Amino acid sequence: MSLVVKKFGGTSVGSIERIKNVAKRVKEAVDKGEKVVVVSSAMSGETDRLLSLAYEISNRPDPREVDQVVSTGEQVAIGLLSIALQELGVSAISFTGWQVPIETDSVHTKARITHIKKERILEEIEKGKVVIVAGFQGISPKGDITTLGRGGSDTTAVALAAALNADVCEIYTDVPGVFTADPRIVDDARKIPVISYEEMMEMASLGSKVMQIRSVEFAAKYGVKIHVRSSFSDEDGTWIVEENEDMEKVAVRGISHELKESRITVVKVPDKPGIAAKLFKALGDNNIVVDMIVQNVSHEGFTDISFTVNKTDADFAEDIAREVAEEVGAGGVERNDKIAKISVVGLGMKTHAGTAGKMFEVLHKIGVNIYAISTSEIKISCLIDEKYAELAVRALHEAFIEDKDVMVID
Ligand code: ASP
Ligand code: MG
Repeated sequence: MSLVVKKFGGTSVGSIERIKNVAKRVKEAVDKGEKVVVVSSAMSGETDRLLSLAYEISNRPDPREVDQVVSTGEQVAIGLLSIALQELGVSAISFTGWQVPIETDSVHTKARITHIKKERILEEIEKGKVVIVAGFQGISPKGDITTLGRGGSDTTAVALAAALNADVCEIYTDVPGVFTADPRIVDDARKIPVISYEEMMEMASLGSKVMQIRSVEFAAKYGVKIHVRSSFSDEDGTWIVEENEDMEKVAVRGISHELKESRITVVKVPDKPGIAAKLFKALGDNNIVVDMIVQNVSHEGFTDISFTVNKTDADFAEDIAREVAEEVGAGGVERNDKIAKISVVGLGMKTHAGTAGKMFEVLHKIGVNIYAISTSEIKISCLIDEKYAELAVRALHEAFIEDKDVMVID
């Protein structure tokens, strides 16, 4: 008998009608003989609503108390789902994170799962029950409620699938799977039938918001097979699995874009050792994650250093850059919030030559200037003007996925 973890996102449980629909789907699986563990997010919009209540009272609410508040969204959803299943004659029982318990560290609002005590869940499965677990939450060593960061229900689901040695972890969502590009931008974007963990991690971190990136890392580490699919249809979605040779046949699996970064440039920096170290150490000491870094060739002993950070960190990063700039006698600091990072991702890049050249040529043909470039073995990212983001994604999709010639725009 197979054991399946099924995770339902906020939109899948967004109304009573939808919760009943989820219960129906779960019943179908049970009727087929599957053992089912369900993980649920809060009803759509609920986590945002709860967070905004806390921020209505304080600009910097105590993270421990934020977790008390936001974790309630999932508790409501699992209780309702359990009632809906019982109404269909399926025996079900729901658990919050602390009831399982799902043990985490004590970093409130972005805790990491350290261990799952699975005995209680196994006991209930043995009794023939569907077990419904609240996503996104756990319990710290002190016994406090923690949450796992936005989108954290995915991680709960994958961690449970790993702990229970489930056959598959199904992620039910409001889209049919992972696409070759954002379908709202590219009409011809296609569903990707199979993708490797590594590719999915790049896609997730580069702005394809289908799954929380940490959940994919977790799946890769423990070899959990993931099936991302729509909660409104029976069609197969996207399988996220271990890489295999077949996957290297195409150079590029998908195109992703990210609008959430800002670029900060320290201009006219004296070109001598130790300055980059000083700047990036100061940023790191303040927990600011830096993404791309570019240092220009120096002219007459001066150079420019640019880097990108998440927009939410940009004010802080700019302040730090100004302090360091003054200290080292640089010319000043500039900032640009209107940038986009466009990336092509594919395992096949390891064996196909010329992907970077082709990407730059496509951007050149449509008249888009590249501010910065970064690469890994399986991705190439270019920083461009935000206003060209959609144009660039479409052109790259045509060139790499649809295999069309890109029109030259003069
Ligand atoms: N409800 C939480 C959020 O909105 C967790 C999740 O949905 O995965 O981020
Ligand atoms: Mg989500």
